[in-house]
Amino acid sequence: MENAAPLDNLVRLFFIILGLSYVLFIWLEALFPLVKGSAAGSGLHAARNFSLWTIAFAITDLLQPTGAMFSVQGPGGSVGLLTRLSLPPIALSIIGILIIDLLSYTYHLAAHKVNWLWRIHAVHHSEQSLDATTSLRFHPIDFLLGSLWKMVGATILGIPLWVIALYQILIIPLSIFQHANIHVPAWVERIFGWLLITPAIHKHHHSIVRREHDSNYGVGLVIWDRLFATLQQPEHPTPKQTGVKGLETEASQTIFGMLLTPLRYKPLKETAITNSDSV
Ligand SMILES: [Zn+2]
Repeated sequence: MENAAPLDNLVRLFFIILGLSYVLFIWLEALFPLVKGSAAGSGLHAARNFSLWTIAFAITDLLQPTGAMFSVQGPGGSVGLLTRLSLPPIALSIIGILIIDLLSYTYHLAAHKVNWLWRIHAVHHSEQSLDATTSLRFHPIDFLLGSLWKMVGATILGIPLWVIALYQILIIPLSIFQHANIHVPAWVERIFGWLLITPAIHKHHHSIVRREHDSNYGVGLVIWDRLFATLQQPEHPTPKQTGVKGLETEASQTIFGMLLTPLRYKPLKETAITNSDSV
């Protein structure tokens, strides 16, 4: 990639895929709901998640972590370890996607293990009825830190921005699918579960039971959870209860409430329920 034009095309493609994916999965939610009569899918619920994403996206766009990376790397991605190998684009894409997915896994793991990060990431988990729009529900700081982590890692390792854009194009429909309130046939889960984080594997991660939500940190590929022994195979397509203990109230579900959650939410050891039957 010698100039910025192909990158612009990939960014445009990202937004097209984003829009089409929401239309497709919201339609499938109406046709094949996993949990019938769920609070998910309501206009208010979707509006709140979309508003939070808009704020997160605007702040991240304003602070420009990608712009900073672009100015360091240059349009062709000429800085970083991988650039010294002069790999063909296909090899660079595969290696780059694997590395970005690993960076996403490590950030997500840290978001559960580091207390102050968990207070921010808990906004995503405070969703009590998962649906396609849950994939938009991230506190702006969570969104920004996750982006920064990937950008710094990618810059040091020499993964060009166009590979990150490609990764995002591939990951966005999967992320929406993972959260969507859709009945997924068991055979789909079984086959794709060897390679990808499937809806059941990710929904298990949204369980209110801490022993269950401290698992399955993968974002795209399931190999990292297998490799680092953090994979828990779900017994059901969705947990008995999703959400975060202490963040069930309406005050924690409004846009303002979600923005203030990192300041208000005090995770205590006692809130970590270790017995799945005690939810
Ligand atoms: Zn999580």
